[in-house]
Amino acid sequence: MRRKLVIGNWKMNGNRAGNTALLSGIVAGLNDAVGKPCADCAVCVPAPYLAQCQAELEGTPVAWGAQDLSVHAAGAYTGEVSAQMLVDFGSTYVLCGHSERRAYHAESSELVAQKTVAALAAGLTPVVCVGETLAQREAGQTEAVICGQLQAVLDVLTVEQVAKLVLAYEPVWAIGTGKTATPEIAQAAHAFLRARLAQKDAAVAQGMQILYGGSMKPENAKELMAQPDIDGGLIGGAALKATDFLGIIQAV
Ligand code: PGA
Repeated sequence: MRRKLVIGNWKMNGNRAGNTALLSGIVAGLNDAVGKPCADCAVCVPAPYLAQCQAELEGTPVAWGAQDLSVHAAGAYTGEVSAQMLVDFGSTYVLCGHSERRAYHAESSELVAQKTVAALAAGLTPVVCVGETLAQREAGQTEAVICGQLQAVLDVLTVEQVAKLVLAYEPVWAIGTGKTATPEIAQAAHAFLRARLAQKDAAVAQGMQILYGGSMKPENAKELMAQPDIDGGLIGGAALKATDFLGIIQAV
């Protein structure tokens, strides 16, 4: 049985006071929940707020992490943040290859693969994001696109390293648009990705947490998470309100 995982991707949102309110709301909600939550949860925040997460989340059920990292370990790379710096502030997760990084920062699948390697080397859990645009879906290229994005990462990792990943399927047309993939569309993509992973290693494929992302909300989370190959969510907009984020965790 794969454990469910819900990760909030705050993107470039937040401020110190607002973060404290949001994080304490999430923690209080989890503590009030009857019984143990059957999902793990985490927030991926802008790098300047990692210290705040460490101060406010240590000892709570909420893990934290970042949204990007450098491929380099240290040195003359102005503006970059290394994997080790994320670890220094207690990070567990780091997103690799979110579609906004691919689109606005021209991150290639090869660069995403190198970032994944850097994250693993520092002991972080990379959350590798894949997903097709609307034009690619309409052109019937969905499987080729997400397969290529996944393969670039698989090509540079050993089976033992692949076992340490989390994968996220995020159709670009569903991100921040309010247009969620139907449970059937999402399930088909997740099953496809798991089958591709199985070509590398069947046991690793079975154990892999594959999260869905793209306008997931408390109202649609239950149906999505009920799909056999959907193991949780990567949540953007709905992660910015404690009640919405908790609602998604409770939908598990
Ligand atoms: P959304 O974002 O939930 O706002 O669609 C998801 C994501 O980009 O990770």
